[in-house]
Amino acid sequence: SAALEGDGATALRLDRAHVFHSWSAQAHLAPLALAGGSGCHVWDHDGRTWLDLSSQLVNVNIGHQHPRVVAAIQEQAAVLATIAPATANLTRGRAAQAVVRHAPPGFSKVFFTNGGADANENAIRMARLHTGRDKVVSHYRSYHGNTGAAVVATGDWRRVPNEYARGHVHVFGPYAYRSEFWSTSPEQESERALQHLAHVIAAEGPDSVAAILLESVPGTAGVLVPPPGYLAGVREIADRYGIVLILDEVMAGFGRTGTWFAFEQHGVVPDLVTFAKGVNSGYVPAGGVLISDAVAATFDDRVFPGGLTYSGHPLAMAAVVATIEAMEDELVVENAAAVGRTVIGPGLADLAARHAAVGEVRGTGVFWAVELVSDPVTRAPLPPATMAAIKAGLLARDVLPFVQDNRVHVVPPCIISPDEAREGLAVLDAVLTAVLEPSGS
Ligand code: PLP
Repeated sequence: SAALEGDGATALRLDRAHVFHSWSAQAHLAPLALAGGSGCHVWDHDGRTWLDLSSQLVNVNIGHQHPRVVAAIQEQAAVLATIAPATANLTRGRAAQAVVRHAPPGFSKVFFTNGGADANENAIRMARLHTGRDKVVSHYRSYHGNTGAAVVATGDWRRVPNEYARGHVHVFGPYAYRSEFWSTSPEQESERALQHLAHVIAAEGPDSVAAILLESVPGTAGVLVPPPGYLAGVREIADRYGIVLILDEVMAGFGRTGTWFAFEQHGVVPDLVTFAKGVNSGYVPAGGVLISDAVAATFDDRVFPGGLTYSGHPLAMAAVVATIEAMEDELVVENAAAVGRTVIGPGLADLAARHAAVGEVRGTGVFWAVELVSDPVTRAPLPPATMAAIKAGLLARDVLPFVQDNRVHVVPPCIISPDEAREGLAVLDAVLTAVLEPSGS
């Protein structure tokens, strides 16, 4: 209708006038104005609909507007919309219990945060205080969130226990397609990446290393599913030196890889797990740290010097409880595993076989990356202008993609049906043909 069209134009005008966006030069933005959604689809104010292969920021695991989650938020809002973190609250307790239900044995406590970055901030803080050390080893190819300076800028006592003089060390993780280790097999890549990690830790001084912080499956860096043995080898190195292993499951957790947590597929148990996104599909911002009993015990008699006004916010917690229960009842995680195994995995393999520009496809569950190259031999990444054309082509054919560097990430909601997945892959196929092999050239 004319009124709705007006709304779309107004949304865009207000956005451009007043909204400052993440990670962007502000003068060059033309965002989609989205008005609504349901399941795997979103639409604009004119009713134009897209199949959401991005899950927004890879977080809407349960799909858009799940009625049970929406109702739980509404019901909680009517009863108690907010409460201080120091109180006990039934919804918060139930949310923590629901998260712990999917944890390995030896985990019983959850510290809730507002999102993934502050989950990692607090996990690092716990590891430092637990070990009395300060260095954190993580991968170059990783994303763990955008905070870090705020507490050191803080003026009151809360700054003091957090003022670390030394900081962060990075290593290369396994990435067989673009190996840093000249390896020729996944086993070799795993072995050599572990040797590199062990050597860096030895050179840094193992007694100075508080934590190894890794995404179980590096997501934004390209869905780099670790080769066999890598995470187990990291666990061994951490154990050898008394280092806390923090696995970041912010993007990989809550069904995305086809299991509740991605590390379950690698036979490892970390000491701390950070999560956000899929825990309640982002209906209300929430994240947290799942804490092993050994690390939790450090803070039985010692003050934990960290906290947030909205730790365990009732609306976010109501969304956590409803999301996890609905995912359990509706076998959402099982669906993600099945669609990945039977449709997306084979479909992308077929795409790779037919398009020379597809250098590699990799993933599991509903967590996949299609790596695009301009030369299959040198593996030179497709240039940004071509990637932009692919992104525009997908949007023009009613598919909302997640495009990062030279990759299209196929990361739909975990509830996606086999037919919707097939539809999305068919559009990707058609767009690759149109952009890269126009008129049979
Ligand atoms: N960790 C990982 C693996 C992520 O992918 C992200 C966000 O994309 C974060 C942490 C940060 O989460 P947030 O943006 O909720 O702070």
